[in-house]
Amino acid sequence: METTTDTRTDLLGLSRERLAEALASVIDRPFRVEQIYQALYARAVRDVSEMTDLGKELRARLAERFRIGLPEITEKRLASDGTCKYLFKLPDGATIEAVDIPERHRRTFCISSQAGCALACSFCVTGYWGAGRNLTAGEIVGQVLAIRAEASLPMEGLNIVFMGMGEPLLNLENVKTALDILTEWISPHRITVSTVGILPGLEEMAGWERRPNLAISLHAADDEKRSEIMPINRTWPLAGLMAALRRYPLEKGRKITFEYILIRDLNDSVRDADRLVKLLSGLRAKVNLIPINPDRVLGDRMVPPDDEAIDRFQERLRQKGLIATVRRRRGDDVSAACGQLRAFGRDPRGVRARGAAR
Ligand code: SF4
Repeated sequence: METTTDTRTDLLGLSRERLAEALASVIDRPFRVEQIYQALYARAVRDVSEMTDLGKELRARLAERFRIGLPEITEKRLASDGTCKYLFKLPDGATIEAVDIPERHRRTFCISSQAGCALACSFCVTGYWGAGRNLTAGEIVGQVLAIRAEASLPMEGLNIVFMGMGEPLLNLENVKTALDILTEWISPHRITVSTVGILPGLEEMAGWERRPNLAISLHAADDEKRSEIMPINRTWPLAGLMAALRRYPLEKGRKITFEYILIRDLNDSVRDADRLVKLLSGLRAKVNLIPINPDRVLGDRMVPPDDEAIDRFQERLRQKGLIATVRRRRGDDVSAACGQLRAFGRDPRGVRARGAAR
């Protein structure tokens, strides 16, 4: 795959302080830093030449040394429900996906933090394709800026969820820098970081001053089942995870969201619901139930329960006092639904599904 050989420093993803350091020998006045910062993130310019509030000479000097690495959109797939999946190509040839989800009262971008995922959850297409490198802070923020520009949306009022490709807490430094930039325009209450529960990362997030919402990819309420579908549970089993979550500081009114993918005959029984209630007791929690999106690479076992079983599971949680919603499937006709992000440019022919005998 073709890669970029541009060796100029990428401005995208630099915090205000790092930007000031990078620009120090090029700019003529200190306030230029703020002008360039705003051009990068508020106006999402693609090239230094678009910074028309700077003089021509300064723009030329900047262009010699710096580039703006906005990820390139190489493909867009629009689902019948308005959900739009974007494929981005990064300068080194890596591909990632992000999804724009329009709803009646809000607009949510689901973005990626890694170009793949090493954690191999058995219900997840991204995990099926394996590990990919960490995204830079610029590549993370760049997904938001690029989709925003494409859809002509202001930054303010957007909701951002780190639920695309990758485990954000395994790329925490870059995710944190991206959050610091994004939260200048978007409230941290509108941003959700979703994790399988990497404990050192959770401890670090607990110490942040401006924390985003926290979502935990739980998917089973006992270690045996969780380890079966999420190998990372063998490293960070439920007891330690739940203890860390009980210590996690939550401001008034905030709750931890627990994502629970419902898989037929695996984690969808009333007994599973009761275990979940017990596991979450005493926590400020809400549960997001997600009937699994089948995909040929996941194999025959990964199918959703029927509607009756989904209703029964939800009702059981509600009866026991838990807030439980069922996430409506969005964008599944373009593989943009939860657990289906794979970098669609990399889908080879003839792939053998997990457990398939063909
Ligand atoms: S569900 Fe998340 S952590 Fe698990 S393999 Fe998929 S992207 Fe990785």
